Amino acid sequence: MEDADKPPQNFDPDFASPVEGAELPAIIISSDKVGFHADLKVLASRSSFCQDLSEIPMPEVEEGQKPRVLPFPSASSPAIKFVLQAVAYNLAHPPQTSSPAGEPASEQLSKTALYEALPDMPQGIKLLQEILHFTDAYELNDFTIPVIYEAMKKAHHYSPAIMFTMTAITDQGNLSHWATRILSEGGKGAIDPWSNAMLETNASERLPELYALFDRWDTAFANFKKASSGAPIDGKNAFSKECITRQCACVAEFDGNWAAFTSSFRDKMYKYALASPMLMKRAKVMEFCMKSVACESCAKRLAPSISSAWNRSVTRQAWSLNPGKANSQSSHVRRRYRIVYAV
Ligand SMILES: [Zn+2]
Repeated sequence: MEDADKPPQNFDPDFASPVEGAELPAIIISSDKVGFHADLKVLASRSSFCQDLSEIPMPEVEEGQKPRVLPFPSASSPAIKFVLQAVAYNLAHPPQTSSPAGEPASEQLSKTALYEALPDMPQGIKLLQEILHFTDAYELNDFTIPVIYEAMKKAHHYSPAIMFTMTAITDQGNLSHWATRILSEGGKGAIDPWSNAMLETNASERLPELYALFDRWDTAFANFKKASSGAPIDGKNAFSKECITRQCACVAEFDGNWAAFTSSFRDKMYKYALASPMLMKRAKVMEFCMKSVACESCAKRLAPSISSAWNRSVTRQAWSLNPGKANSQSSHVRRRYRIVYAV
């Protein structure tokens, strides 16, 4: 006889006791047979699915506070735990809707405190899928997705492609930001099969936009390399007389070989530009040169030529998705999505 509806033997330590004062106590059971005490009444106020669940007449409820047992065999305990923590987080810190600038700080937790309090996001696509599936099945998306997104961002262990995908399917975060980060990680090659499948299924319009961005960037970056390697440095391709005379740190390091010096510098410069095209403004390029070139006078000669090569070859459009459009973000989850399992 199946005993799927019996209370489990093991409980998660953080959800091991019945919720105090629960109106509709329930036990959710994960695929690995770990139990979680919850209050369906609280979930029902956020989810019509849980509302429906709570309205199914159950004889046990009349007997007293015997909890309903709700097996959820397609999510493991870390996934269910995370979603319940996300619910608790949102209950404790309801999102601020457009708080006026002058609001007293004591009224709400500081941004830092809110950030610190975010639950720890489990790592890995499989757990992410289980989390999405569980929160979607319980129709808790509006409530949990903003927390899931922020926790993923904080955890740093999900790739820019996965963050882009989450943004595309949930309307959290900034698409353009993650698109640029994908470029830095290698463009097309940085899109994993899961992200690709999720985007194809749920936000297929984003893929051609991404590929168009990769093409714009490839062309612009190739032009930048060409322009910067061909550019003479203030009129002549050589160390300055002054640097040669005093044997500056660069002259010394490269034994007076200007070509070797500039080629080694450009390699570093390209890596920097690839990783942070948004930081190629003149002042930042100068800062980079001062940091990565041992002689200040050599750095000051190189920086303007790099900036002018960049400005001639790369526009903001080349590294930014939809640069014209303000990426207006709603605080709620507009989109329902379908989870793709076959990867
Ligand atoms: Zn020098």
